[in-house]
Amino acid sequence: MRQENSAILAFDQGTTSSRAILFSADGSMLGVSQREFEQIFPADGLVEHRASDIWQSVLQVGREMVAKAASLGLTITAAGIANQRETTLIWDRKTGDVVYNAIVWQDRRTSTHCKTLSDEGHLQNVRQATGLVLDPYFSATKIAWILDNVDGLRPRAERGELCFGTVDSFLIWQMTGGVRHVTDATNASRTSLYNIRNGMWDADLCHLFDVPMAMLAEVQDSAGYFGDCRADVFGQAFPICGVAGDQHAATIGQACFTKGSIKSTYGTGCFMLANTAQDCLLSENNLLSTIAYQINGQVTYGLEGSIFISGAVIQWLRDGIGLLSTAAQSEALAASLCDNDGVYMVPALTGLGAPHWSPSARGAIYGLTRDTGPAHFARAALESVAFQTYDLIEAMRADGIAPSGLKVDGGMADNNFLMQFMADILELQVDRPALTETTALGAAILAMLGSGQTTTLEQTASLWKLETSFQPHLDRSKRETLLAGWQTAIKRTLLDCC
Ligand code: ADP
Repeated sequence: MRQENSAILAFDQGTTSSRAILFSADGSMLGVSQREFEQIFPADGLVEHRASDIWQSVLQVGREMVAKAASLGLTITAAGIANQRETTLIWDRKTGDVVYNAIVWQDRRTSTHCKTLSDEGHLQNVRQATGLVLDPYFSATKIAWILDNVDGLRPRAERGELCFGTVDSFLIWQMTGGVRHVTDATNASRTSLYNIRNGMWDADLCHLFDVPMAMLAEVQDSAGYFGDCRADVFGQAFPICGVAGDQHAATIGQACFTKGSIKSTYGTGCFMLANTAQDCLLSENNLLSTIAYQINGQVTYGLEGSIFISGAVIQWLRDGIGLLSTAAQSEALAASLCDNDGVYMVPALTGLGAPHWSPSARGAIYGLTRDTGPAHFARAALESVAFQTYDLIEAMRADGIAPSGLKVDGGMADNNFLMQFMADILELQVDRPALTETTALGAAILAMLGSGQTTTLEQTASLWKLETSFQPHLDRSKRETLLAGWQTAIKRTLLDCC
């Protein structure tokens, strides 16, 4: 039940920073605290975080928000956690000592392992059970790498002396003083070890990836009791009642509760997730199937597509070639032209993600003339984000999703030129919410649900409030010309790298 003077504490433990956000019982944001932490790049393609950096940053932001709640005369009645997904930690079950740095989702060290498994013909089985592809992105090969590269770990893992956890699991372990080794179904669904069809850790997959099942956490619904955060951690005890991977939490924060509703987050990259309700669709178009959320034992599935570079192309224009002094400037610069004048950019700066999946593709710009100026670069960069979104939406359509609109968030969603162009190119309504902290809101909603402060997810839909709706109004033939230009650019880029 909702109590007077109560508040919800949401953690958004991301790739580059940890945030704690305090929400009132009716979902208003009361305070936010954020700490960045160090990214460790031991070699090309390797990305690690120190477990202690993650934990210390969470401790600091959590303590600030607990103090803020106290200063407002509020008591925290439940906490929710949203986290960077797939990132892999292993620790000693008795001492809690972490045995190796967290291997971050971006880390590519297990590419060869994945290629070998793929060459041996395991892709179809893995896809069928997990909805994922064979890629270093997911946790399983990262776990095996740690066990095989740190002396003496494998026998300890086999004896049940070690715990594996994604970041949610690690944080809950820390917050409960080592009492609870648990995770939620969304995080489990990103490990490559969890069968998303029967909702269980999969013994065959554990065998294939060489991960002892004794290391795995208990998997729970995304809303429910995960354990009690001890009073000495943040200065106040409270139950942890909601957990989801960040993109899944954002899907909830964006109130994508019906089949075909889609959210797209535009940060460094872009992550699109469509609700497919009880249909666990196996994509024919290179998208991933995943668990959107699991409530009361009922799984809601999702289809996901990621674009590696979206906001990062604007970062590159700003920091790489010095064309902009702020990311926001790209809007006025792009809008200073009434057309792209045939200039197209394919921002494959780190290869192309879904639906093309071409790691060796590299960025290109086409259609330059003597009239091409900085505005064309800005415009082509922004337009490329909408065109890439179009490719994802088309892949979703081909997989049987009928999108009713697109809900956007992330830093780049502030760009009105891009959002209008997106609506025009997709021929869909693009909705930007008033509260763009959708990931934290999703974690808070799960915590409200898990602590009984609300009874259904649907009841929380009213917490989502529209800020701006962008309607498509571009002339059809103009749209087709633009799309044809983009498709030519993509084809040429893909041809170049083969
Ligand atoms: P992340 O969480 O991945 O760090 P954010 O959601 O904070 O990303 O968004 C930051 C990204 O969005 C940066 O890559 C930046 O270049 C881009 N960005 C921010 N504001 C704008 C804007 N007004 N127009 C275009 N790009 C923007």
